[in-house]
Formats: sequence, C-alpha cells, structure tokens
Amino acid sequence: MSESNPVTRELFDEVMVPNYSPSKVIPVRGEGSRIWDQQDNEYIDFAGGIAVNCLGHCHPALVKALTEQGQKLWHLSNTMTNEPALRLAKKMVDATFADKVYFANSGGESNEAALKLARRWALDNYGEQKSHIISFKQGFHGRTFFTVTVGGQPAYSDGFGPKPADVFHAEYNNLDSVKALISDKTCAVVMEPLQGEGGIIRPTDEFVKGVRQLCDENNALLIFDEVQTGVGRLGSLYAYMDLDVTPDILTTAKALGGGFPIGAMITTTDIAKHLKIGTHGSTYGGNPLACAVGEAAFDTVNDSQVLDGVKSKADLFTKHLNEINEKHQIFSEIRGKGLLIGAALNEKYQGKAKEILLAAMDEGLMVLIAGLNVVRFAPSLVIPDEDIKQGMALFEKAVAKVING
Ligand SMILES: *Cc1c(COP(=O)(O)O)cnc(C)c1O
Repeated sequence: MSESNPVTRELFDEVMVPNYSPSKVIPVRGEGSRIWDQQDNEYIDFAGGIAVNCLGHCHPALVKALTEQGQKLWHLSNTMTNEPALRLAKKMVDATFADKVYFANSGGESNEAALKLARRWALDNYGEQKSHIISFKQGFHGRTFFTVTVGGQPAYSDGFGPKPADVFHAEYNNLDSVKALISDKTCAVVMEPLQGEGGIIRPTDEFVKGVRQLCDENNALLIFDEVQTGVGRLGSLYAYMDLDVTPDILTTAKALGGGFPIGAMITTTDIAKHLKIGTHGSTYGGNPLACAVGEAAFDTVNDSQVLDGVKSKADLFTKHLNEINEKHQIFSEIRGKGLLIGAALNEKYQGKAKEILLAAMDEGLMVLIAGLNVVRFAPSLVIPDEDIKQGMALFEKAVAKVING
C-alpha cells in the first residue's frame, strides 16, 4: 500500500473475517524479546506469539536456516522425501520415546493425526466398538472439528452441526472421573501434561500416573498433547520427561518451528504401522523449509544450557511476580512450570485479566491471558534476564493502573 494509504487497524475490520479481535498495535519487526510497532514504539515480549517464538524474534540460527534453505528448495510433495524432514525426524526420534514421526503444519493437525491414528489402531486391533476417546474439560487441542470436539470447551465446539461421536470429557486432576468413563471401549485418553489455555493447570503426579495405569488396564492409548508444553517450554525437552510417565503418542507444534508453521505427531513403530499408505496425509506436512527451521529450533533448544536457563528464568519470573503481589495483593496464585506461567487473579479482581493485558500493552509490555482470570506468560526460552527485569517493572505499573482504576 502507498504512503497515502497506510495499513491501519481499521483495515482489519474492512477486509478480515471477524473471528479475531486484534490489538490496536501493529508490530512490524522484532529482535530477541523486543518488538517495535508501526510508530516505532518498543515492547518487551512476554507473550512469545503464544508460546511459539521459543527463541525470541529473528534468532540468528533460525534466520540462517530459513535463508539457506530458502535458496535451495522450498517444497516438493509427499511423493518425494527431503533431507531437512528426515534430519529433523531422526533428531526427534533420538531425543524421545518415539520411533516414528508424522509431520503436519499446526498443533490442531498434529492432534487430528493422533486421534485418527488412535481410532485406526483400535479398529485394527480390537474392532469397531473400541472407539471411545476420553479427554478433559477445559482442555484445548486445536480448532479442527475433531479437535474442538475432543477439547473441553463447548464454546469452541458447539454450533457447527453434529460432532464426531464417542468423545467423553473427564475432569482434570480427578482420577475418579476418568475411572467412571474408561472401559474396554476406550481407544485413547488425550491430555495436556499441563493445561495451557484452560488456565495453566499442572497435573498432580498421582493423576498422570493414574491415567497411565488406567490406559494400560483398558488397552487404551495415552496421547499427550505437548503442542504448548513441548520443545523446552517447561524446562525439559518434553514435559513427559519430567513426569515419569511415557505416552504412546505425543503431539508437538508451536515452539517446534520457533515461529515457522510446523507440527508433528510422534509414536512407536508398533502403533505407527496402522497409518498405512494412503490412510492420512498433508500437502505441506514435512515441507523442507519448515523442517529446516524446525531442525535449527530443535537443535538450539535441546541443549542443557538452554533448558537449565528455562528453570532459572522461571525462578526470576516467579520472584518478580511474588514481589508485585506482595505489594499489590492482586493474585491468588502464581502457578505453572518453566516458562509457562499463570498469575491467577484473586476474588477481588475476577474477570480483569484482559484489562491487565491492555494496560501492559500501554506500558510497552506484551503478556497473554488464559481465560478471564489468569494472566499468562510464555516468553522466549532465552529471554535475557535484563528484559525480564525491565518487563516486570512495566508489568507492575500496569497492575497498579488497573488497581487504581
Ligand atoms: C495451541 C494449541 C493447540 C492448537 O495448535 P494450532 O497450531 O493452533 O492448531 C493444540 N493443543 C494445545 C495444547 C495448544 O496449546
């Protein structure tokens, strides 16, 4: 567009489907954990593109991978394989419980593949009646029709006609509610090993281990949706590694591409064999450009210094948030794990998470929310400590403004 016809927020309302309500701010560039908007205002980024930009903006390793691959080969099709896809798959297999990888382009698609695989595995091994899927209230698994149905938020799944059948919702951290639903008809239990969108809810040890055991007793697969928790977010490469529970299928996306769209479903050879030739696929899945960037992100994050850094930066975040709370008495709890942190508003400030997000934006800080009552932080895993300090000073100002009306 010409100078006299600039891109503005109003243009969004003119030309975009109204399913989002974006901020007035239009960012134009980023570096590390800083972002600049059209007017060159600077922001500190505690949002990380909703847990996607695991290495901040324009990390040199990712820019290098993108530009190098961008000069070589962008896309083929799945009638041919390619080097970046095989290299990344090999690294994922070497670093996890899995033997096999299926590439997709998003978290929702990775989960769609996992659910279809679970159904096919059950059909092949046990017959048609083993079709039940158990997932959790408040869970989030994506926006395809199967994944919103499996997700535990009716607001996302209702109003689109008949849903995929045989999906049941238990309560997170309530093993009895799983026991009440699970049977030999269950083909899979799907869970986030820390509920993200649902409000930053950690599972108890007893719960995760209990779910694993119930799956084993009922010959059901355990699917971990690690779309948000994976690739270092919680301080281990994948969250399951710190839980002493191994899933049968795991999905990963968001941070996997560090900002380039890619997702994957990983599993064992024995389960994977049920996705025979032609049973499932994706035009872009395993795209060389995406996999080259994914490989660079995976290599950079799967490093003990980076992963240990997540733990120390998480401590720094928590320390600042506790200090702010001591002063202002606004949160009932600071929770989460690693650099996926939720600050839950206390009784007095119920429903004000969005107001805090907007006030923070005015101060030059980007944060997230998870529902109406939780302020969420999902910054770069390599955010400099100085940016945390400066960002928290801005956050305190935003909190004070909301408190003082
Ligand atoms: C974001 C998210 C998804 C959906 O990923 P998309 O890339 O938006 O399809 C699925 N599961 C979890 C746990 C997520 O956080």
